[in-house]
Amino acid sequence: MGFGDKLRFELKAECTFSGMLECALPDIGAAIAQANKTLLRKGAPRGKEAETARVKNWRVAGKKLELSIESGRYVRAHDALLRLAKLLAAELGEKHKVGLRGMSAPECRVILPPAEVSEQAKLELGRLPYKVKAGRAGIEVSMENLSEADLRGRVVDRLISMVEEALARVPAKAEPKVVRRGPKLDHLFKEDPFEVAKRLGWVVEFPGRGQWVYAEPYAKLLLALEDIIAEEVARPLGFEEVMFPKLIPLEVMQRMPGYLDGVPEGMYYVCPPPREPEAFSGFKQKLKLTKRVPIRELGNILKEPAYVLAPAQCEPFYQLFALSRVKLEDLPVKQFDRSGWTYRWEGGGVEGLVRTQEFRRIEFVFLAAPDDAIAIRDAVVERSIKVLDELGLEWQLSVATPFYMREGGIEADVSDSRKVATYDLEAALPYKGGWLELGSYNVHRSKFAETFKIKEVRGREVWTGCCGFGTGRWAVAFLAQHGFDPEKWPGGVKGRVGQLPKPPKLG
Ligand SMILES: [Zn+2]
Repeated sequence: MGFGDKLRFELKAECTFSGMLECALPDIGAAIAQANKTLLRKGAPRGKEAETARVKNWRVAGKKLELSIESGRYVRAHDALLRLAKLLAAELGEKHKVGLRGMSAPECRVILPPAEVSEQAKLELGRLPYKVKAGRAGIEVSMENLSEADLRGRVVDRLISMVEEALARVPAKAEPKVVRRGPKLDHLFKEDPFEVAKRLGWVVEFPGRGQWVYAEPYAKLLLALEDIIAEEVARPLGFEEVMFPKLIPLEVMQRMPGYLDGVPEGMYYVCPPPREPEAFSGFKQKLKLTKRVPIRELGNILKEPAYVLAPAQCEPFYQLFALSRVKLEDLPVKQFDRSGWTYRWEGGGVEGLVRTQEFRRIEFVFLAAPDDAIAIRDAVVERSIKVLDELGLEWQLSVATPFYMREGGIEADVSDSRKVATYDLEAALPYKGGWLELGSYNVHRSKFAETFKIKEVRGREVWTGCCGFGTGRWAVAFLAQHGFDPEKWPGGVKGRVGQLPKPPKLG
């Protein structure tokens, strides 16, 4: 808990039964009085009994029992309601043959201790779907019309954790810290490779924004760089090549920290159609008649979104071990995937060949004991740097905020790689004097193992990590520093691409 931990819950709830409750009044009264003394106090830590729940008021109206319950942090009012409802359902069922039909909470107020609300927390709290207000008595969170599913699904607890986290958050120090630099190099080529590639026909525009056709010479260079990464980084370090799906069911995506709960605006959602030709008959007619795609009709026919197009590329790896038990002695597992595109919805943020909606990446993934996970990640970083040196590219290594912790700060002590969650490797862009991120090298600690429920047979900690090589960007950096004349390219690449095919002449 980030700060003083006094909490107050005030809940107005209704339980609806299958029959009239008037005749059961004495039994209800007795059950509530007894519960106030025992059932609603059970389970609190010693000395915290005052912070348990109490039914303050109750009344019966027809088939409804209305309750107002107050509590502190232990046995929270909504938990007390669930306990009480279960008790009453049993008692009234037996004695009066009425069953519990449902419950809801028209009002729930939670008061947290007074706290300083930073600008960042203000923004975050403003985005929550419930009212949060800072007053003299404390931070007040009000929820209305909570359903039984909300109450049973722990929505209140989660909301309070989110508010507490937002309040405790220290403003982010987002600037990456450079920790190492490669040799400074002279670059004769000074043009923007994106402009040159378009002019030479190495890339061709596609109607989809932020998508390109990578024509022959460009594809050959990109694949050569991918081969080098596979041969010089993956294989010597014992990573095996696998092929991961790129269509990720929402329930898998939900387990990825920092995606659906962090950047839901940055993904493509996939809506499958009903598999019935009939459903499309109106759509087909209209298309034939108007010669335009009837978008609204299409939207009406499609089912709800069920997938995203893989934004991370490593999602299937953790899913492989989800809900299973691994044995530390059988680890590490090291795999890499270069089977196709991954996707991010960049909206207006697309930029040339460096920020595209659809991009190439080689994703390294590993599951290992904590020390091994760090060692594996660090070895991938070292090998990557060696490859950049061999490619004659100017690079720098920095410590960054990991993608699943966007709001967090950077560890103050970056000299010890065990404390670094994410390294970014960047290459110089001579045409504009800045740096381009080529990849990120992550150790997630137990974060993903927890969300994917990956268990170790003896309960020992297992960590995961992933390293993404943005190979499209490797090609951009290569062209930005070496130019487009293969004669001037370093031997390793020149040898691999051989004679470059000419792109087709497009007029
Ligand atoms: Zn990843």
